[in-house]
Amino acid sequence: MGKLKADELMLKYFPRCPLCQADGSYEVSGMLKDYVQCRSCGAKFESPDFIGGKELKKLTLWEPCADGKGTELKRKKFDVKFWQDPKNIEAETIPDKSKLLFSEETNEEEIKQKIWEDMNNLAMHESGTAWMQVGTFLTGSATDQMTASGFKALIDQNKIIIRQNELILRTLQKILTALPPEKEN
Ligand SMILES: [Zn+2]
Repeated sequence: MGKLKADELMLKYFPRCPLCQADGSYEVSGMLKDYVQCRSCGAKFESPDFIGGKELKKLTLWEPCADGKGTELKRKKFDVKFWQDPKNIEAETIPDKSKLLFSEETNEEEIKQKIWEDMNNLAMHESGTAWMQVGTFLTGSATDQMTASGFKALIDQNKIIIRQNELILRTLQKILTALPPEKEN
């Protein structure tokens, strides 16, 4: 079996681009000719197997698609089998909704509840700070503690603001849909 060029080898294993699923058309680059780039979406892949030109085993996503698809997989190396199944890629690129501050499925009561929880955390943090100010005189590490808890407070405040913005946005959308349609002159 002869040695295939990187684009030929890629095409053999990926008749369609792993990320955008367009008909495979790849451009070879790199000093060692070990990078291929999809001409449709711009996703760039790297593999030392391209140099061998016989068998493609592992593939690293070097650059995601121009539209950002695959960002979560950037610089990650997987077996060819992983990249060949779009379901694997989807599972890795769809964010875990439980980690989001809210999603389209979160209802307003849940958002309000979370705001309340963060405000509570913040109130506890405020009362904690006074105690830590005393601690500063006793140990040096209290400073680090205060810095860390200060960051935590900022994060909690941001969470509150982001969720409140979502509530405002939803209210505005409701008002807009309730308004009578604008009359044409
Ligand atoms: Zn592509």
